[in-house]
Amino acid sequence: MESSTYLDEDRHRSGRRFARRLYIPRIIGLATGFFCVSSVLVLQPVSGWWWLLLVAYGFIWPHFAWQTADRSSDPARAEIRNLMVDSLMGGVWIAVMGLNALPSALIFTMLCMNNVGCGGVKLFGMGLGVILLSCLLTLGLARIPLNLETMPSQVWICLPFLLVYPVYFGLVSYRTALKLSEHKRRLMQMSTRDGMTGVYNRRHWEHLLHGEYDNCQRYQRSATLLLIDIDHFKSINDSFGHDVGDEAILAITEHLQLSLRITDVIGRFGGDEFGVIMSGTPQESAIQAMARVRDYLDEFRLPRAPHVPLRISVGVAEFNKHMVNYREWLKAADVALYKAKKLGRSRTEVADIAA
Ligand code: GH3
Ligand code: MG
Repeated sequence: MESSTYLDEDRHRSGRRFARRLYIPRIIGLATGFFCVSSVLVLQPVSGWWWLLLVAYGFIWPHFAWQTADRSSDPARAEIRNLMVDSLMGGVWIAVMGLNALPSALIFTMLCMNNVGCGGVKLFGMGLGVILLSCLLTLGLARIPLNLETMPSQVWICLPFLLVYPVYFGLVSYRTALKLSEHKRRLMQMSTRDGMTGVYNRRHWEHLLHGEYDNCQRYQRSATLLLIDIDHFKSINDSFGHDVGDEAILAITEHLQLSLRITDVIGRFGGDEFGVIMSGTPQESAIQAMARVRDYLDEFRLPRAPHVPLRISVGVAEFNKHMVNYREWLKAADVALYKAKKLGRSRTEVADIAA
């Protein structure tokens, strides 16, 4: 029940945003369109009611449309209705102008562009039907004579409509595309990175390990896998608090990032455990790299727990072509880490792998 309310709220908010996005383009489009239609109507005998309707539609309707969508219980649906009113009125104005070539073509094109941009082919089709129907009905009911020819002065008056609206529409589309790519980047970051340390999360790191395993099998490459776990981490948490525990995890991450190669793939396994994939690296080099990390940690002290040394245990497993899958590789490193813990911690142990 609660989640459906949440979804409804989300739907309402995004519908409102959709209507809001169309508010300014509608103001601009209808204001420039007003002059376009006026340039034809001034030269033909039309009733004052048409003029009244044109002014109301050109300058009052955009605000009324936004208000109705904003107050609606379903703003997206209300905005679609508004777009259909735009199409309906577009058809009416094309007819009232006696299908005058340039303004009619412009109104028709802008409406189609708007509809396809807001609701894809479906809305484009619906809009097309509404424009044609309202145009034919108006032509028939009001008995308006055809007046196809556009005069040069009318071309000039139509220019702002021709230029301003498509440029604004393009700008909005460009900004939307930028926003979408930023969202995509953030989603990608959230789904692949550990929120606290910024290194890969376990799921993505295992995915990369899977890829590394496949590459090693296919191209007979070497690679070494390391699992690293902080020693007696619980006692840091218990004695100094979770904050200091977090600082220790961040310090280890930073040390790993600074001392390892840029190509080494670091992941946080959760808790105080890390994994590193060293592509193209034999296990001796991996062990040396860990010795460098240890040297660094020997000198390092947590600012809020300066008497507590940070020590790590490490399990190392070099890739072996007899491993049936990447999980077996991971298991080998895990067994080696367990061995390091069992043999007294603060040490690096290598997996026994049958050749
Ligand atoms: P060992 O030497 O055997 O590894 O002992 P340990 O105390 O380090 O034990 P273990 O690795 O099992 O402990 C992990 C602890 O890490 C358990 C949990 O309370 C703590 N922990 C897990 N995630 C976080 C975190 O994000 N921040 C902090 N501060 N602590 C965490
Ligand atoms: Mg630990």
